[in-house]
Amino acid sequence: MLEKVLRERLARSDFADAASRRAEELYDVAEAELNEDGLIECPLLSLRDLVVFPHMVTPLFVGREKSLAAITAANATNSTVIAVTQINPEQDDPAIGDLYPVGTEIAVGRMLRMPDGTTSVLAQGRRRVEIVGVKQLEPYPIVRARPIYESPDKPRATEALMRAVLALFEKCINLNRALPEEAYVFAMNIDEPGWLADLVASTITLELPDRQAVLETFDPTLRLQKVSILLGKELDVLELENQIHSQVQNEVDRNQREFYLREQMKAIQSELGEGDTWNMELTELREKVAGSEMPDEVRKRALKEVERLGQMPPLAPEVGIIRTYVDWLLDVPWKVATEDNLDLKHAAKVLESQHFGLPKAKDRILEYIAVRQLAKGKMRTPIICFVGPPGTGKTSLGKSIAEALGRKFARLSLGGVRDEAEIRGHRRTYIGALPGRIIQTMRRAGTVNPLLMLDEIDKLGQDFRGDPASALLEVLDPEQNHAFNDHYLEVDYDLSKVIFVTTANTLGPIPPALQDRMEVIEFPGYVEEEKLRIASQFLVPRQLEENGLKPIGLSFPDSTMRRIIQSYTYEAGVRNLEREIANVCRKVARRKAEGKTVPTRITPATLHKYLGPPQYEPLEAEKRDEVGVVTGVAWTEAGGDTMPIEVVLLLGKGNLQITGQVGEVMQESAQAALSFLKSRAKTLQVDFARFEKTDIHIHIPEGAIPKDGPSAGISMATALISAFTGRKARKEVGMTGEITLRGKVLPIGGVKEKVLAAHRAGLKTVILPKKNDKDLVDVPKDARRDLKIALVEHMDEVLEVALLPAKAVKAKTTKKKTTGKAASNKTKKKM
Ligand code: ADP
Repeated sequence: MLEKVLRERLARSDFADAASRRAEELYDVAEAELNEDGLIECPLLSLRDLVVFPHMVTPLFVGREKSLAAITAANATNSTVIAVTQINPEQDDPAIGDLYPVGTEIAVGRMLRMPDGTTSVLAQGRRRVEIVGVKQLEPYPIVRARPIYESPDKPRATEALMRAVLALFEKCINLNRALPEEAYVFAMNIDEPGWLADLVASTITLELPDRQAVLETFDPTLRLQKVSILLGKELDVLELENQIHSQVQNEVDRNQREFYLREQMKAIQSELGEGDTWNMELTELREKVAGSEMPDEVRKRALKEVERLGQMPPLAPEVGIIRTYVDWLLDVPWKVATEDNLDLKHAAKVLESQHFGLPKAKDRILEYIAVRQLAKGKMRTPIICFVGPPGTGKTSLGKSIAEALGRKFARLSLGGVRDEAEIRGHRRTYIGALPGRIIQTMRRAGTVNPLLMLDEIDKLGQDFRGDPASALLEVLDPEQNHAFNDHYLEVDYDLSKVIFVTTANTLGPIPPALQDRMEVIEFPGYVEEEKLRIASQFLVPRQLEENGLKPIGLSFPDSTMRRIIQSYTYEAGVRNLEREIANVCRKVARRKAEGKTVPTRITPATLHKYLGPPQYEPLEAEKRDEVGVVTGVAWTEAGGDTMPIEVVLLLGKGNLQITGQVGEVMQESAQAALSFLKSRAKTLQVDFARFEKTDIHIHIPEGAIPKDGPSAGISMATALISAFTGRKARKEVGMTGEITLRGKVLPIGGVKEKVLAAHRAGLKTVILPKKNDKDLVDVPKDARRDLKIALVEHMDEVLEVALLPAKAVKAKTTKKKTTGKAASNKTKKKM
């Protein structure tokens, strides 16, 4: 490819033209004849700073008298001269000893006088000569020299070397623009190694001594080797140069390109009249920033960004990013605040009108408002944390507080937040960066003093991307949150006027540092009676309203509502209850819209038409008292649940196996229960020898749900004893309590939830540790009324209540939930 281009160029080349025309004259000049000693005698031309090689056509600029005389003499006789390079180019009149001993016999053409007074001749190298003597020195020197002949032999290795040199030479030519491309074409067509070496040496950039050394190397292969080394060195330098050059060039090119494109864009924009719109937009933005309520340093920041925008063409990619940023600064509330309504009567009315029950929570909120009223801003706002199962009114009570105070309400969920950046935002250098959830929620709230509800604070995650909990600590800390630092916003943001309310299903997973900041208000869940009241006072009216059924006045009698609660929901809160009510309402609304007749009352008997078959029906088989099966009650995040515990005895070697995703603490607890049984074997009339021949298998069903904790201790002990003694366990009795090796019953947590779960499941009796007595005040009246609560200190008392005497008396059946469970119950159980 390159060759072709070069050939074409060469054909048109002026250089080739002129050179060949002038060179033609040179071909007429004959080489000097040899005398009998095989020597030639020629005028001598000393060259200051160049080496002429055989075959090469070179222009020479002649100034010195002796040189002119030598050339004139040669021209006159149409003969050659010998050109030899001076060792020191500075010398004006070098003696023979000041010249290199090897030179070139050259033919010189006509002398041309140049406009600047110098004289130029064209010279063509003929053959290498070695000077052996001097014939005359004045008026110009004539020397005797021995021509050097090259062997025409070309070994294969030399052939390969020639190719390699040619390749290097090509690279050199490509890299060095100063070298004539034609030289490569010439080189390609030379098939004598010595000549090729001469051509390359005369073309590339070389120091004078190096060139002379090439001239003095008579063996063609050696000469070519020398040249190839020199070529390699030259190439290194060229490559380095080229690299630097292209780096510089790239930079220049880019700047030029950008400049050019910008100019073009300007031209296009002004042609389209867009430049004006852009300027108008900028002016508008500037005015907006200037007129906004942001603090001065934020305004300064925003204006700086607007100025940056002004220096950019409207379509530059950064424009969008900067605009979004300025918009955020404009949109986040900086000053707008609502006036607090601290009227206690009003607050009490709002809370009462929207929520049934929850006396503790309501009281605490009213106290809070009272203190605010008195302390007027001097108070450190405590952070309230609502803890309880789903659907117990945490969110809606939060909304009511905001309404009572006349504040805006906004919530954000922390569930699954693992990355600190979700709280604090990403730096703007990130593509698609945005502020964190706190600032986003503040923008939604639109005031600087909203009530922010941080949901699911117990579900906050943590991973390698930083700890969101520590960012949250900063948000909640009154010492720090007046200057909250969002990575995106970059400027400080004041969160100190915000009322924070957090919610959680359980306190357990909340980091202690966070727990310390919060005041916990518990939402334990509701008993059936409470649910009835909530449904009739709040849920039904709301659903009728939402489904446009108010005019019909659709009614849900208590019997229907109980049926929904018992057979269609199984929960501590009322979320599913509300959903089922909504379900019924929607179906009725649809009938109405379709012009069909609609009922005004929903009766228990018609319920299945709207809600399908009941989802929680008592299962007959489980209603009977059995040997080795005990009803435990457990705490779960969803509020509490019953948990059957089964023991089976098998022939074996005294192994104890416990299954059903049971944690370590619970396993130890099973061991303790067994040890207690063994220690009491005699009293309980169990033959001790049986233990060695029996394998015990304890299973806690719903194996998919992990369970742990010490409070199943008495249930496991009871089940074991029932199994070994053959005494049936009463199904209607639920129990919870930790057991010691001596059979003492220790207190446990989550009493309220457990009692409510027992109540919900329709048990008749709950066995609790005596020490938990104090927790009973929190248990709703209905549950305490319906349930017999047995407070015990020792296992003996447990057995008395829970087991039938050895001669079984058939117990009354009790209602038990069984067939399925609400999804919310699929959470870890704690005994
Ligand atoms: P949580 O935030 O605890 O999961 P929600 O506040 O979302 O529960 O409550 C679910 C639904 O139940 C809401 O519609 C709420 O108004 C209603 N609700 C819960 N508790 C009560 C109550 N004590 N009085 C009136 N409505 C309630």
